[in-house]
Amino acid sequence: MKILITGGAGFIGSHLVDRLVRDGHDVTSVDDLSTGSMKNIRQHQNNGRFKLVVDTILNERLMDEMVSACDQVYHLAAAVGVKLIMNRPVETLETNVKGTEMVLSMANKYKKKVLIASTSEVYGKIMNGNGTPPLKEDTDRLMGATTKRRWAYACSKAFDEFLALAYYEEKRLPVIIARLFNTVGPRQTGQYGMVLPNFVQKALIGKPIIVYGDGFQSRSFTHIDDVVEALVCLMAEPAAVGQVINVGNEEEITIKELALMVKKMTQSSSEIESITYDRAYGPGFEDMQRRSPDISKLRSLIGFEPRGDLHSIIQSVIDYYL
Ligand code: UDP
Repeated sequence: MKILITGGAGFIGSHLVDRLVRDGHDVTSVDDLSTGSMKNIRQHQNNGRFKLVVDTILNERLMDEMVSACDQVYHLAAAVGVKLIMNRPVETLETNVKGTEMVLSMANKYKKKVLIASTSEVYGKIMNGNGTPPLKEDTDRLMGATTKRRWAYACSKAFDEFLALAYYEEKRLPVIIARLFNTVGPRQTGQYGMVLPNFVQKALIGKPIIVYGDGFQSRSFTHIDDVVEALVCLMAEPAAVGQVINVGNEEEITIKELALMVKKMTQSSSEIESITYDRAYGPGFEDMQRRSPDISKLRSLIGFEPRGDLHSIIQSVIDYYL
């Protein structure tokens, strides 16, 4: 097939490129390299099966051309990472809202199946765990005030979901929405705030590993290979069309425990230090204490079982940075 991936030079996009090219597809990608990097796709430099166009997904003429020429679209291009959202809110909102509008309207024009990558961030600060069940796709969301900039990202991606569902219901466009929980693995950069690459990089050079807040907040991390497998299987599953589906791993760990695990696995002499959220992200930052997915829908749709356990996930990131 001819497959278009927006954001193909990014962390998740580049792994998806690898997989789809390996499966024998012709893959094209549009990426403005804002957070992606040529390094992520240098393995395809002389590969006739892959083509990268360095441009923005807001370029209407280009998107018209690229969507019309493909059979399927994976829309991964977005402004991501809490630090980026805190530092460049206009860019975040515009890329995520206008970019998805562009992709969906072109997909609709040519009636191409499209998978939209969304995020567990859309659940907002709703607490799960501690007696309340893991987050299900239809769980109510809880957004902070609009003056708390962090939630701009969640709202932009929630808007993307609404728009995609509207295209499905009103225009019969085949869309699939994958709500990704914390995804980690080789090629993820620590530059935009993501916790695991930050911890690993600091541990490897013996600099302090910085835990934000009290470190009792928890997350569930999924290995990139599991996420790519889920995306490809969802795209191929007719029953996934018109659905929102959590993609994640149920294994949960506190950030403090994560810091200790990274320190031990790297045999690092780094100190583990704590700083306040205000110091980390600026004043008025809100974090969510727990976030773990209910993946029963993903299981029943594609028989998904994450293969990466936390130890091997962390090891893959250490190996990448060694
Ligand atoms: N975090 C941390 N130190 C860092 C980066 C992040 O303690 O150097 C914390 C962050 O406050 C959050 C968790 O780790 O509670 C996960 O952060 P990340 O930005 O990776 O993902 P998200 O907040 O979107 O789940």
